[in-house]
Amino acid sequence: MMNRGLLLVLSGPSGAGKGTVCEAYKCRHENIWTSVSMTTRAPRKGEVEGESYYFVTVEEFERKIANDEFLEYAQVYGNYYGTPRAQVEEKIAQGRDVILEIDIQGALNVQENTSEGIFIFILPPSMNELKKRIIGRGSETPESLLTRFQSAYNEINYVSKYNYAITNHTVEQAAHDLACIVRAEKCRVTRV
Ligand code: 5GP
Repeated sequence: MMNRGLLLVLSGPSGAGKGTVCEAYKCRHENIWTSVSMTTRAPRKGEVEGESYYFVTVEEFERKIANDEFLEYAQVYGNYYGTPRAQVEEKIAQGRDVILEIDIQGALNVQENTSEGIFIFILPPSMNELKKRIIGRGSETPESLLTRFQSAYNEINYVSKYNYAITNHTVEQAAHDLACIVRAEKCRVTRV
């Protein structure tokens, strides 16, 4: 019988580098599939429909909530974000490992909704570095920058709800840490 894949749930403050770490990990590990979330926020420059996100209207999103189509969803910075359930379940059943890059509320929802899941928190090396990274991205308005900084301070308190924390000093090292966690989880005999 084929083993089920792992459900890896990654969170961390905006700018901590979840996306970049996942990309670096995926380059070296074929068995991984990153879930594409659905959102009601507007696309940023360079984002591609169906790759970065599925961009939908609030009405469409709320219809999918009513149909129970999300494994989890949350409102983040005034927009809806959610993980379509069907695609995740299909990949895990096929033995693929699945990464969800989601916010903390979403991760806590997954903890309530399923018994599966390895919860990993990505930390920035420092708050100053986090600020630099968010500003460097150049995609935020002054108001949304402030919201993201304030949220980052609050979010870091939730690290204790996760199974693992990775500090993103460099992308290479953080992706390596992620690989070690996946390896360890594959060798795990018992769950406590
Ligand atoms: P951004 O707007 O920067 O792409 O994402 C904002 C936040 O929403 C990030 O913390 C990101 O991890 C989170 N997010 C992205 N997709 C999902 C999702 O499907 N569910 C939840 N709960 N959060 C998500």
